Amino acid sequence: MSTLDTDLDAIVRPVMADGLELTRARTAAVGDMSVRRLLPLRLRRSVGAWCFIDHYGPMSVDGVTGMAVPPHPHIGLQTVTWLMAGNVLHRDSLGSEQMIRPGQLNLMTAGRGIAHAEESPAAHDPLLHGVQLWVALPDASRLTEPDFEHHAELPVTRVGGLAITVLLGSLAGAPALRSPATTFSGIVGAELAAATDVRERIALEPTFEHVVFVTSGAASVAGTELAPGSLLYLPPGRDILTVMASPGTAAMLLGGVPLGERLLMWWNFVARTPQEIAAAVAGWQQGMFGEVGGYAGPPLAPPPLDAARLARRARVAG
Ligand code: MN
Repeated sequence: MSTLDTDLDAIVRPVMADGLELTRARTAAVGDMSVRRLLPLRLRRSVGAWCFIDHYGPMSVDGVTGMAVPPHPHIGLQTVTWLMAGNVLHRDSLGSEQMIRPGQLNLMTAGRGIAHAEESPAAHDPLLHGVQLWVALPDASRLTEPDFEHHAELPVTRVGGLAITVLLGSLAGAPALRSPATTFSGIVGAELAAATDVRERIALEPTFEHVVFVTSGAASVAGTELAPGSLLYLPPGRDILTVMASPGTAAMLLGGVPLGERLLMWWNFVARTPQEIAAAVAGWQQGMFGEVGGYAGPPLAPPPLDAARLARRARVAG
C-alpha cells in the first residue's frame, strides 16, 4: 500500500455541529485492487498518530491473483494489517513470514527502515476484505529499530450488543483491555461489530481525537449516518460516542492524542523533510532496506521524485 497524495486537493472537509467532520473516500489503486482511501486528507494529515486509512473489499478473489503488493520500503511509521475476510501473506526484510486472518493483527514497525511484501497466498480464500492503516511514529521514536509482530489473540469486550476488539492501545471505557501490540503514542484502534440491533454509548478518552468508519452495513454514529466510504472525525473533548447499528454492521474506531508534528508523506515514507524522503528513495534504489524473500516478481520502483511539489507540500504539511 502506498500514497502519492496526487489528488489530495480534491478533498473537501465539511464541518458540522460540535466540530464533527464528514468526508468521503477517494478511490485509489493498489496493484489491481481498487481501495477506498479515507486518510490522509489535505486539511487533516493525521488523527492522533493515524496517518493513512485504506479500506478494500469485500471483493471476490476466487480464481484470481488477489492482493499482490511487491516488495517496497517504509520509514517513520507502523503498518497495521487487519482483515474482515480472507487471508494475506506478509514477508519482510527481517525474514518474517506470516499469514494473517480475520481477528488477528499484523503490526510492522518500520522505524528507520524496513521492506515488505503483502499478497494473497497461492491457495487463498475466495473473499478478501480488509483495512491497511499507518501509524506515524512520533519524532522521538521514528528512528527506532524495525520490528514485526503478529498477534493472534486480542482483547475483546462487549458493550451491549457490540463486540469490541482492541487492536492497538486501549479503550477509555475498559482501560484494562489493552492490546499487547507495541505503540509509541497515546492511541486507540478498535473494531466494533454489531451482533444484534445496537443502541449503545461507548466511553471515549476525551484527550483523544477520533475517526469512525463503517466497513460493513450501516450505522448512526454520534448522530451521523455512516456507510462504507465515509469518514467521521470527532475532535478532542468528547467522552461519549453513541452508536446505533443493525446486526452485521462493523466499524473501526481510531484515535489518539493529536500528534502535533508536521508530517511529510510521500510514496511509502513518513518523514519530516524533503531531504529525508530523497535519502529514503536513494536508499531503496541502492538496496539498503534489505531483501524480501519469496515474492515472485520485481520490487516496486519509486515514482519520479517531484522536488518542487515535495518542497511545496513540506511547507503546508501539518
Ligand atoms: Mn507497505
